[in-house]
Amino acid sequence: MRVAMIGTGYVGLVSGACFADFGHDVTCVDKDAAKVETLQSGGIPIYEPGLDLLVQRNVREGRLHFTQDLTDAVREADAVFIAVGTPSRRGDGFADLSFVYAAAKEIAEVMNGYTVVVTKSTVPVGTGDEVERIIRETRPDADFAVVSNPEFLREGAAIDDFKRPDRVVVGTDDERARNVMHELYRPLFLNETPIVFTSRRTSELIKYAANAFLALKITFINEMADLCESVGANVQEVARGVGLDNRIGSKFLNAGPGYGGSCFPKDTLALVRTAQDFKSPVRLVETVVDVNDKRKRAMADKVIAACDGDVSGKTIAVLGLTFKPNTDDMREAPSLEIIPALQEAGAVIKAFDPAGTVEAEHMFSGVEFTSGPYFCVEGADAVVIITEWNEFRALDLERLKASMNAPVLVDLRNIYVPDEMQAAGFKYTSIGRP
Ligand code: NAD
Repeated sequence: MRVAMIGTGYVGLVSGACFADFGHDVTCVDKDAAKVETLQSGGIPIYEPGLDLLVQRNVREGRLHFTQDLTDAVREADAVFIAVGTPSRRGDGFADLSFVYAAAKEIAEVMNGYTVVVTKSTVPVGTGDEVERIIRETRPDADFAVVSNPEFLREGAAIDDFKRPDRVVVGTDDERARNVMHELYRPLFLNETPIVFTSRRTSELIKYAANAFLALKITFINEMADLCESVGANVQEVARGVGLDNRIGSKFLNAGPGYGGSCFPKDTLALVRTAQDFKSPVRLVETVVDVNDKRKRAMADKVIAACDGDVSGKTIAVLGLTFKPNTDDMREAPSLEIIPALQEAGAVIKAFDPAGTVEAEHMFSGVEFTSGPYFCVEGADAVVIITEWNEFRALDLERLKASMNAPVLVDLRNIYVPDEMQAAGFKYTSIGRP
C-alpha cells in the first residue's frame, strides 16, 4: 500500500518507518524544513532507541521517503495519516486542532481517487466529523473516508510498541476504509494482535480514556506515597501488594514526581474540557490534573526540606531533565517546574541529562549544563535524581560522595535502597518510603 504520513515528529516518524518496515511504500511529510533536511541527509531529528537503523534500512530499500511538499505523496496514497501535533490551546486547555484542520485542507486540495484519511493524532471526540466536513467542503467531488486510528506508542520504546502493540484501534463505519486499514496492519493480524474496530467517535474517546486512566493510576500511587510518608509505610511494597492483583496490574504504579510528557498533561486537560463542553464532567480526571500540577511544586519543597529547609546559595546537582528516560522530549517534564522553583528559593543549579540537553538548554535560564553525572555533582550541596535514566541506577557512591560538598541525595524515582544509601553515608530522601 502507499502511505503518506503528514507530520514527521515522534509519532509520524516512528509510524512511517514501521509501516515501511511492514513492506508499505511510505512518504513522510513535514513542514519543518530543518527536520526534513536532516532526514534526507541520513540523520534523525529525535532521540528514540533503534530508530536510526530502522529508518536507514527502509530508506536504503526504497520504501521510505521524506519531503516537505505533500502533493505527490498524497496524490498517490491509498491512506494519508495525519500525525501532526495537538498541543493544549493556550489559555483554556482544549486541544489545539489548528494543525489537524490545516493538514486536512491541504490533503483535500490534492487527493486523487479513493483515499482513506486517518487521524493518528490524539483528537477530541467529533474531530473526525470536522475533518470530513473540511475535506468535503474543499473538494465536493472527492472519494474518501475519514478514519480514527489513535496511536498508543510510548516514547523510548516506540518501535516495539508500534510493532507489538497491545491492540490497534480503528474507528470507521466505511467498509472500504476498513479493508485498507486491515491491509495496512496485516503483519499485526498475523501476530494475532487484537484489532478493535469501532465507530469513529468511540475510537477518538478510547485514546483519551486510556491516557486519563494511566494518569489516574500514577496519581493514585503518588497520593499513596504521600500517605506512606505520613503513616510510616513503604509505597513500593504497597504498589507490589496491590499490583499483584490481576484486576489492577503492576504497571504505572511507580511513585514519582508527577506525570509529564507530551501526552498525559495535555490529554487529561483536553478530556476535562471536552467533558465540560458536553455537560458531562469527569470529576476524577479533573482531580488528577489538579493533584498532579501541585505535585511538581511539592517536589521542589521536598528538595528544600532535604537541604535543612534552605537552598539559598547552595549548589544543587540535577540528574535527568527529560520527562522520562530514553527520550530527548522535554515537554511538560517535571524538571521544568522543579528547577525554577529551586532557583527561586536561591539555589544554583547544575544539570546533566544523557539525551535532553540540546532541548533543555532553551528551556532554562541560569543552569550550568555538564557532560556527565560526576561532573554534575562536583562541589554540590545536594543531588536530585529527577529522571531514572539507566546510567543513574548504579552510580559509584564513593566517588559521588567524595566529589560533593555534602552527601545529600534526593531520589525522586526510588531507584536506590534507603538502607544501602544510609550505609554509604548519604542523607537520603526518596518518595513514600521510610
Ligand atoms: P511532534 O510535535 O513531535 O510532531 C508533529 C509534527 O507535525 C511536527 O514535526 C510538525 O512540524 C509537523 N506538522 C504540523 N503541521 C503540519 C502540516 N500541515 N504538514 C506537515 N507537517 C506538519 O508531535 P508528536 O509527539 O509526534 O505527536 C503527534 C500526535 O500524536 C499528537 O496528537 C500526540 O498527542 C499524539 N501522540 C503522541 C505520542 C508521543 O509519545 N509523542 C504518543 C501517542 C500519540
